[in-house]
Amino acid sequence: MSRLEIRKLRKSFEGTDVIKGIDLVVEDREFCVFLGPSGCGKSTTLRLIAGLEEADEGQILLDKDDITDRAVDKRDLAMVFQSYALYPHMTVRENMSFALKLAGAKPLAIDEKVAKAAKILALEPYLDRKPSALSGGQRQRVAIGRAITREPRVFLFDEPLSNLDAALRAQTRLEIARLHQELNATMIYVTHDQVEAMTLADKIAIFSEGRIEQIGSPLELYRRPVNKFVAGFLGMPQ
Ligand code: ADP
Ligand code: MG
Repeated sequence: MSRLEIRKLRKSFEGTDVIKGIDLVVEDREFCVFLGPSGCGKSTTLRLIAGLEEADEGQILLDKDDITDRAVDKRDLAMVFQSYALYPHMTVRENMSFALKLAGAKPLAIDEKVAKAAKILALEPYLDRKPSALSGGQRQRVAIGRAITREPRVFLFDEPLSNLDAALRAQTRLEIARLHQELNATMIYVTHDQVEAMTLADKIAIFSEGRIEQIGSPLELYRRPVNKFVAGFLGMPQ
């Protein structure tokens, strides 16, 4: 089980409120998209969940565990960044093994997990290359592979397609949808792109200025947007 619950989450930077009280439940195996314009607090919310930022108020629960104050590496979550964040001096295999090694996993178990992730992502031919010898799409697949090897309870994606060209973006989007099916995992996916949100999500949380305006399935949002902001942002007639 990997159900994530956020209660009354708040965060300010230098006296400016950025996250203004967010409540949200992401059910086990659900694909939840945070959708909203730039600067509305999507990444900050994801970083709070990941433990990369500290909440001022509120709680983050993973199943029955309160992980609000837990260290990043003890949360059992894996984040995939827009910038890939690969180690340039390490090979693909080393990039995908690193966190497992740090966590003290046995070499045999590490090899097995890396092989499995490489197979899922068609990265087998590239395992001994450095990131600099890969295309942008391949680098992003390595970043996703690194998350997979850790077998996290929840995957967190922050605009993972935004550095890819249009063709690769469409292809990688399909790959992420397939991964969600194949891994049967809980996923949270941040984007400002309505098409990505509508095609990937079981549930969309529409963000605006540090708050969630509406939560619902793509169909629910499409049929019954709660206000003009939601309707306008989804590109619907108002
Ligand atoms: P989004 O991902 O939706 O584009 P962010 O969560 O990155 O938005 O940012 C929300 C707001 O918080 C922005 O105004 C941003 O400038 C501000 N912000 C984010 N991180 C920091 C930080 N570390 N220090 C100060 N301000 C920040
Ligand atoms: Mg962002």
